[in-house]
Amino acid sequence: MDSRRVLILNQTFEPLVVCSARRAVVLLFVGKAERVEDTSQVMRSPSTAVTVPSVIRLHHFVRQPVAPTLSFNKKNILKRDAYTCQYCGRNGGERMTIDHVIPRSLGGRTVWENVVSACRTCNLKKGNKSPGEVGLRLLRKPTRPRSASYLGILAYASHHYECWRKYLPAEAEKSSTVGNC
Ligand SMILES: [Zn+2]
Repeated sequence: MDSRRVLILNQTFEPLVVCSARRAVVLLFVGKAERVEDTSQVMRSPSTAVTVPSVIRLHHFVRQPVAPTLSFNKKNILKRDAYTCQYCGRNGGERMTIDHVIPRSLGGRTVWENVVSACRTCNLKKGNKSPGEVGLRLLRKPTRPRSASYLGILAYASHHYECWRKYLPAEAEKSSTVGNC
């Protein structure tokens, strides 16, 4: 039960952060949030039984802090892509490699918009060519993530739950495996 994750939405329905089921139930209990989507799971204490939510929405608006500088590194690129190969959709966890969509040898830059997570097989197949030349297609266009907290949510995208989808940004739309709510 403790591994269950709940998506917290801002008052404006924008995704804010991911928390534990326990914390979400407390937020509901003290009246700071409302249920948006429920799971079929129930959390029991000696005196009560509470349906575990999947998505909750805060009653108040949380101003998102100005995003701390988002480091451009392998870890964050993998998080952005939910540890999913951007060519074949395979989820490879931390073993994933980083690929330059337009190879450096062809003038491709090392920037958010030109690097993606790729499994070893696709990376090897692609080599120093453009995706089209070797018959590979990107699942989606790489972009710079909006903020660090957003990145945290995207990292869950590979195992997020079906009913989170409509609240998540387009970047998280195409994940390979989706659990039930
Ligand atoms: Zn691949």
